[in-house]
Amino acid sequence: MIEHTTIEKILDAAQIVDVVQEFVPLKKRGVNLLGLCPFHNEKTPSFTVSPSKGIFKCFGCGKGGNSVNFIMEHEHLSYPEALKYLARKYHIEIEERELTREDIEKQNERESMLVLTAYAGRQFKENLFNADEGISIGLTYFKERGFRHDTLNKFDIGYSFERRDAFSKKAVEDGYKQEFLIKTGLSIQHEEKIFDRFSGRVMFPIHSLSGQVLGFGGRILRSDQKTAKYLNSPESEIYHKSKIVYGIFQARKAITQDDRCYLVEGYTDVLSLHEADIENVVASSGTSLTQEQVRLIKRFTQNITILYDGDEAGIKASIRGIDLVLEEGMNVKIVLLPDGEDPDSYSKKVNNEEFTKYLKENETDFIRFKTQLLLSEAKSDPVKRANLIRDIVKSIAVIPETITRTVYIKECSTQMEVPEPVLYNEVNKLRQQKSFQDRNKYPGPEDLPVPRIAPVKQVTHEAGTFYSEREIIRLLLKYGSEVYERKLNREDGKETVTTIADYIVNEIVSDELTFDNSVFSEIFSDYGFYVGQGLFPGDQHFVRHQDPDISSISADLLADSHELSNIWRTKQTYVETEVMKLKEIVPETVLKFKSDKINILRKKILRQIDEASKANDTEKIITLQKKYNTLSKALSKISKNLGDRIVL
Ligand SMILES: [Zn+2]
Repeated sequence: MIEHTTIEKILDAAQIVDVVQEFVPLKKRGVNLLGLCPFHNEKTPSFTVSPSKGIFKCFGCGKGGNSVNFIMEHEHLSYPEALKYLARKYHIEIEERELTREDIEKQNERESMLVLTAYAGRQFKENLFNADEGISIGLTYFKERGFRHDTLNKFDIGYSFERRDAFSKKAVEDGYKQEFLIKTGLSIQHEEKIFDRFSGRVMFPIHSLSGQVLGFGGRILRSDQKTAKYLNSPESEIYHKSKIVYGIFQARKAITQDDRCYLVEGYTDVLSLHEADIENVVASSGTSLTQEQVRLIKRFTQNITILYDGDEAGIKASIRGIDLVLEEGMNVKIVLLPDGEDPDSYSKKVNNEEFTKYLKENETDFIRFKTQLLLSEAKSDPVKRANLIRDIVKSIAVIPETITRTVYIKECSTQMEVPEPVLYNEVNKLRQQKSFQDRNKYPGPEDLPVPRIAPVKQVTHEAGTFYSEREIIRLLLKYGSEVYERKLNREDGKETVTTIADYIVNEIVSDELTFDNSVFSEIFSDYGFYVGQGLFPGDQHFVRHQDPDISSISADLLADSHELSNIWRTKQTYVETEVMKLKEIVPETVLKFKSDKINILRKKILRQIDEASKANDTEKIITLQKKYNTLSKALSKISKNLGDRIVL
């Protein structure tokens, strides 16, 4: 844990312009600086740095934040890593906070588990290469399948004896605690005894980025056993299967060098590709691809090629994978292997050169892949054809970058013989729906909320309260200290001033409303705390917040489009408008938030009424109906208020 004062020192030293300029050439433009965004491809600069606010913001891809956020994003570092990086750069000594007992316990537990999994890895490897049973069963299996000794060694492949407690017993003898045997899932407790989870299996250790053994995949060799062919370590303090990909430790260097990552399904596929001299390969081991896994790969490259064997499960999995990759703004290619082959079998059938050549020549983009896959059956059937187009459009819509989307729309238009404008229309429609649903993504430039009253009309009820929550936090951060109204007390002649912050905090606290989005909720309660003391936290409090989610969202909200971007320069007038119209905008936004909340509640009650009527619970229905009516009345009052307020 890095001491708070140290973080302050780092933030003071790491001036945003200085930090960014090391990677991005910047040109002065008014009070800000402008450059080409390092996070997406662009020809016209939309990446803006505001020295006065200490933030950067790209109006192309939406990325934004303070200098720590920049380093995290650019150097693929975690928050503490980025702080340490900047501390080194600015010669600041890191003072780490003393760990609490709980921290230490947690850390000790993790460490004990990692020590144990490392030990297990060594034991299993020893079994495979040096024990009779391991050699005759395990090693023979790999030899028969044509795997080389050096490959098995490189991946620390091992073998777990068939005797049901062989490993557990040995580990306890060697001084390892039963507690951690259970916690890592290496052993299973049954009544008073402990047994091996993986007995009679060849073992594939799953390594972290830095090579620590986090867990194992084990393959059973006897075909007569009524048990799953593959078994994985259960989730634990150290192993989260959705966050790691198999082979990343052995692949990371090659992925960076090749600027591409091959994605396969199984452990042995990874091994096979290594034997074919393709080392930039990982597998999503034991789970279908997840967002976190894609992000892990993204730390090393923007390009993923999915290799898949043509069985139905494989196709389904790869289709799901495609959208996940696209959504991260990465490029995805697909290689379909010849009929009946998987990466393992095919790489053994042909020589390395032929295999590499096949991969290069047969990679297709996802539109062609989907079209080829489905067009033959869809060609003559207009309904199926429409579904196929919709399917492709859905994939295009998740791509965050405008330029890439444009390219794919062109491609789809040619392939499917649909006019481009029709596709644009569909894609935009989907994106609009999505931008409301999606809580974590920054909006792209075309999705930036149109300033002023517009959000009130745009938000659909299905959207929940994300947009109105966001708008409330934005108003607080930007205008919290501005005057909302002044009142003169006739008796003593004193003036009371209500600020925007007073008004908003009071409205929300007195109605006992809460924020659904955790980051907004945290900003609000932090802000409310200050307001309660008659203070204003100031925007730097949030921009420099220790929680990188808070700092980056605050930077995003404070990055005035009109102030930072040349795109908006012509709309300079909007600044005055918003400041001048705060008296309208603020209560409107609060009302909108309330009506969103009520709508959600009403929906919930409707569902409950439905359930109650199924259960014939008349009493409950009446109570619920009453509640519903009260809410409806409140809502119509708000709507009327809102309607009265919207000045067109
Ligand atoms: Zn960008």
